[in-house]
Amino acid sequence: MTETKIPYKIYLEESEMPRTWYNVRADMKIKPAPLLNPGTGKPCTAEQLGAVFCDELVKQELDDTTREFEIPEEILGFYRMYRPSPLVRAYRLEEKLDTPAKIYYKFEGNNTSGSHKLNSAIAQAYYAKQQGLKGVTTETGAGQWGTALSMACAYLGLDCKVYMVKCSYEQKPFRREVMRTYGASVTPSPSMTTEVGRRILAEDPDTTGSLGCAISEAVEDATTHEGYRYVLGSVLNQVLLHQSVIGVETKIAMDKYGIVPDIIIGCAGGGSNLGGLISPFMGEMLRGEREYEFIAVEPASCPSLTRGVFAYDFCDTGKVCPLAKMYTLGSGFIPSANHAGGLRYHGMSPVLSELYHEGLIKARSVEQTKVFEAAEFFARTEGILPAPESSHAIRAAIDEAVKCRETGEDKTILFGLTGTGYFDMVAYEKFNDGTMDDYIPSDAELEASFAQLPRF
Ligand SMILES: *Cc1c(COP(=O)(O)O)cnc(C)c1O
Repeated sequence: MTETKIPYKIYLEESEMPRTWYNVRADMKIKPAPLLNPGTGKPCTAEQLGAVFCDELVKQELDDTTREFEIPEEILGFYRMYRPSPLVRAYRLEEKLDTPAKIYYKFEGNNTSGSHKLNSAIAQAYYAKQQGLKGVTTETGAGQWGTALSMACAYLGLDCKVYMVKCSYEQKPFRREVMRTYGASVTPSPSMTTEVGRRILAEDPDTTGSLGCAISEAVEDATTHEGYRYVLGSVLNQVLLHQSVIGVETKIAMDKYGIVPDIIIGCAGGGSNLGGLISPFMGEMLRGEREYEFIAVEPASCPSLTRGVFAYDFCDTGKVCPLAKMYTLGSGFIPSANHAGGLRYHGMSPVLSELYHEGLIKARSVEQTKVFEAAEFFARTEGILPAPESSHAIRAAIDEAVKCRETGEDKTILFGLTGTGYFDMVAYEKFNDGTMDDYIPSDAELEASFAQLPRF
């Protein structure tokens, strides 16, 4: 197939959409470490997890061997409202960068929530509904997950309670209103409505909140109300499983045109989009069929892979959740309020953490002004206004393409464009005004946080 035949946008037919999620754990020789019960120090049982999460999702969480999971028809129906998502050949970006590299991006922002999070939100809401629950509780940082979940809950007629990190609640009133429009109730976190929220506020009344803290509140709310379970938008194995629809769909589209990526890049907060995008490609590599270079890109202000430690840690600030073995900055780590670019979570998916630990994934961190430079360059070149989170991947893709210009290599670069940035204009405003700075935590700050890690 000659190059010119590759269209600007590769859209699959509805009939070509994936019908299964791919579970990369099935092909991992070393499985991600199990979640531990903080009380006993032993792996959490399905029964213990069932008090917090929906039963079917607990099964998916604990299943390290089933390679493929059929996507239920009702979820496929919802996916069809915004999938298949386009795989775009970034011809304009290549030309502007004057690079021999071929650049592709999988665009997940073509839905009202504006990000890939809807892929897992509908799955999690579906299983809650199947179980006959009244509703679900969750946390949201920048607001994308809460928005996605409120859309999914509205579709299925479930109640949706969202604890939103306080600084985002104040900075992003429109995000909040979108959630309320879809029927969710939104509480700024930490709040006085939960015991853990009251405790955190008593210790630090001026806290701007963190994802870890909002998670504690949402879990407490779910476990103290009949008919509710907690759902999480990233980090967990089940979320990576649902997000594999991104990677499987990308692979179908690439195979159709005979495209083989050399480098696959994704931004990494809790790891769900990156895990989902790379899963089927990683599966090939784990089975010894093909080699790829995988790059996780994280903010320099919240560098869990590049500067964190691989250890058991709490998933939340209030220490009510199970412990996960992951690359972490410590559950007490709260990124600087100056950090506007999302990806604020202190830990990383146990699946990605294990793969990174084995050297199968590379990671790099980037400063936020460099991220916004890339975001604006991309917006002016490709037309899409990217989310700050996604722009971490854009930054790395541009850097790799520039390297190709210097070496003359015509590598094929694929990156995940996870969402749009319409609700992030306060961050763009800071960048445009030149008031954005690049806060990087000191070693001493991180050491102090590591000292608080639980010993398991
Ligand atoms: C939530 C989010 C991310 C980061 O989450 P992951 O779980 O690491 O994928 C990235 N991009 C966008 C647009 C998001 O909303």
